[in-house]
Amino acid sequence: MIDLRLARRAAGLSTAFPAPHFPSELGEDVVAFDSGFAAPQLLPDLVPYAIAALTEHREETLQYSATQGQPELRGWLAELMNRDGCTLGPENLLVVNGAKHGLELICRLLLDEGDAIVVTAPTYFTAIPIFRSFGVEFIEVGQDIDGILVDELEAMLRTRAAEGAALPKLIYNVADFHNPTGATMSTDRRRALVALASREGIALVEDTPYRRVRFEGETLPSLKALDTSGHVIHVGTFSKLVAPGLRIGWVAADATIIARLMQLKSDGGSSPLMQRILYDFGRSPEFEQHVDRVRIVYRERRDTMVAAIRAAFSDAVLHVPEGGYYVWLTLPAHIDGDALAANAADAGINLIAGSKFFSAGGAGSGNRVAPKNHIRLSYSYATPEQIDAGVARLARVYRAMAAR
Ligand code: PMP
Repeated sequence: MIDLRLARRAAGLSTAFPAPHFPSELGEDVVAFDSGFAAPQLLPDLVPYAIAALTEHREETLQYSATQGQPELRGWLAELMNRDGCTLGPENLLVVNGAKHGLELICRLLLDEGDAIVVTAPTYFTAIPIFRSFGVEFIEVGQDIDGILVDELEAMLRTRAAEGAALPKLIYNVADFHNPTGATMSTDRRRALVALASREGIALVEDTPYRRVRFEGETLPSLKALDTSGHVIHVGTFSKLVAPGLRIGWVAADATIIARLMQLKSDGGSSPLMQRILYDFGRSPEFEQHVDRVRIVYRERRDTMVAAIRAAFSDAVLHVPEGGYYVWLTLPAHIDGDALAANAADAGINLIAGSKFFSAGGAGSGNRVAPKNHIRLSYSYATPEQIDAGVARLARVYRAMAAR
């Protein structure tokens, strides 16, 4: 190994490359319940938009672009946010290379080593290493089917204040179709959380990749729509609605936050080619039809998965998500989700063990122990036929373990 003097934040990084996990690289009989990939059948035909972008907008798409993002796209994003209850202008928008990039920029703006942040237990597992690379202390707050337990969060803040510990700098929250639990936060909780963040002066980061992937029920106000003090920083993305490969997302926040985030964005601006393709597709009549299809296709897959699980896992607790990509299974306490994931992988079923979604699990992360009896199953990539067959095969693996 080369003797390099690494930054402290890089000390824990592995030198191994991950095993292939792209569903398309796996064999035909492997069922991908692990990935948050889009259904291949839903990837839109963007060829006409790409051709137009490279011919009619050649200079715009092949030149350097505005770091904040193309004005027309920001205008449309503001319009979309305003239809969703906000009052924003293009100055409140920053185009980024997907939601994860937005999260990283927000961390760069707010976090010093040793700062505390609040996440739910469990939380979106890819956000954990992003936060961890900033050397933060994770504070886990519980959640139920109505979202993060705001009372528990408030009590924790009081305890910290009484002990003279610094308040967290940031609260990270997924209010709509949480990854991994699928839970959607109630309106009352949303109001209480926004009020708390505002009162305590804590940045409230809402990550909303699944917001429009709703199958039923009423759309609830986004945290940004409830925000009157400017403490909410909203992160959006087209990854789940259009195509993750475009790598286009956005941050919506107070203009003073956007101006500073922009200076931390060192990528020379998100690709103007992708922004143009997305803008023209988004403004076309095809876009809303596409969104409707996304809802229909994922709803069918959700229904298939829920029915298959109910038929095959009589002792698992399952909350039916009203949207999004994931089902979170709570298994009897003695079942080890890590072992189940490993055995399932041997049987050609890829899924993610619940323990991966707890920030306090894993090396160097404090001393709380992540519960082991959960698994997350994604229904976005597998077809209904694969879902049916895959859940039945998974249930056989599970029963063999439970019987031991
Ligand atoms: N946040 C959450 C909660 C997610 O589930 C995902 C995708 N799995 C992302 C962010 C990543 O989105 P993007 O592709 O825009 O980086």
